[in-house]
Amino acid sequence: MTYQNFSLKQLQDIDAAHHLHPFTDHKDLRAAGSRVITRAEGPFIYDSEGNELLDGMAGLWCVNVGYGRHELAEAAYAQMKELPYYNSFFRCTTPTPVLLSKKLAEIAPEGVSQVFYGSSGSESNDTALRLVRHYWALEGRPQKNIIISRKNAYHGSSVAGTSLGGMAAMHGQLGGAVPNIVHVMMPYAFELALPGEREHDFGIRAARAVEDAILEAGPDNVAAFIGEPIMGAGGVKIPPPSYWPEIQRICRKYDILLMLDEVITAYGRTGAWFAAQSMGIEPDTITTAKALTSGYQPLSALLVGERIASTLVDKGGEFYHGYTYSGHPVACAVALVNLEIIEREGLIERVRDDTGPYFRKALAERLAGHGIVGEVRSFGLMGAIEIVKDRETRERFPGDGAAAVVVRDHAIANGMMLRATGDTMILSPPLIWTRETIDMAADRIARALDLAE
Ligand code: PLP
Repeated sequence: MTYQNFSLKQLQDIDAAHHLHPFTDHKDLRAAGSRVITRAEGPFIYDSEGNELLDGMAGLWCVNVGYGRHELAEAAYAQMKELPYYNSFFRCTTPTPVLLSKKLAEIAPEGVSQVFYGSSGSESNDTALRLVRHYWALEGRPQKNIIISRKNAYHGSSVAGTSLGGMAAMHGQLGGAVPNIVHVMMPYAFELALPGEREHDFGIRAARAVEDAILEAGPDNVAAFIGEPIMGAGGVKIPPPSYWPEIQRICRKYDILLMLDEVITAYGRTGAWFAAQSMGIEPDTITTAKALTSGYQPLSALLVGERIASTLVDKGGEFYHGYTYSGHPVACAVALVNLEIIEREGLIERVRDDTGPYFRKALAERLAGHGIVGEVRSFGLMGAIEIVKDRETRERFPGDGAAAVVVRDHAIANGMMLRATGDTMILSPPLIWTRETIDMAADRIARALDLAE
């Protein structure tokens, strides 16, 4: 059965009849009909009607090496022919997760050298949550099990991921979160800095909210702090440079583990393999997924620091946790070649030294002065554009993010795929973008802003 035998209308009708989409209002979807993306090449995606869109989101923050990489398809095909599946339970393993673990240990921040695989960021955060609590239990301190997170954080959509996350709408539908998770303020200066408060001081104040939560719960009851180095789905919220060093200091002071969620930021997006390296953070766990395979296969890797790993190995006995697809040989084969491409093509250095700074300049020079833009910000190849009604007062348009949706729809009509979250437009393009692609994106977004104004 090939989709080419179906008209767009037929595909939309079948989609509406049988397919429940993630994070979607299905009544809206049925009224509008799905856009059917059928192919992609380099930085572009194409829909069933032949429309070309520049993909400003790398799929969903994942297609870092761009589309149409036959090498990745060939790696999957070769592995499927030789060994499509075997597990790594019961004292077995397969070669590709072994080699991938070695590679990840080589590129990870110092002191992080063990890997636990899953198929998604959500699964990986579930593993991380279980692992840090298990760690403290093995250390004879089972009461040390509270996790501190941030409001509006996104850590996935499973029960554990939603509980760790701080999105009010998601919690509203959860019907009971995993207990002992506390949420504190996010480091979002654009909305939360006090009048006249310096960026540095705001960063320290936001970090001290974590210290306050530790003191309130009692340090003996707190297992870990979890955070995205840059909050992604919550709106590319880049903390002031003072934030993470202060978080690190606080975690050390009270002997609290530091869990980084790098599902979006790992594998080059910030101009280093990991944002931990870009920002000088020394985590105990790092959750990764998405760009590990550039989205060509579902795969996540929880990177585990030596402190936790050695306790697990030396004192742990069996860790009653794992997934059928942990260390899937095909996904790991694809990841190995994907990391090779990132390295061979110098994509990380390019983001750090060339396209990252150029992207920042393009946002600042081409978009920041627009009449409905309150702020632009970026780090590596992640960016945000705040949509406001009034640039001076930062008053938002009415309708809870409706204005950003209008900008997004104009952008799509102008050949630019980007995302609206709340009142923020977000960008997270493939790392293969060049200066020319950045210029093209800036032109198309500027046009969308003009049309929305
Ligand atoms: N953590 C972060 C920071 C994410 O951005 C995401 C997804 O966007 C996840 C976790 C969940 O990953 P997945 O959708 O693969 O479960």
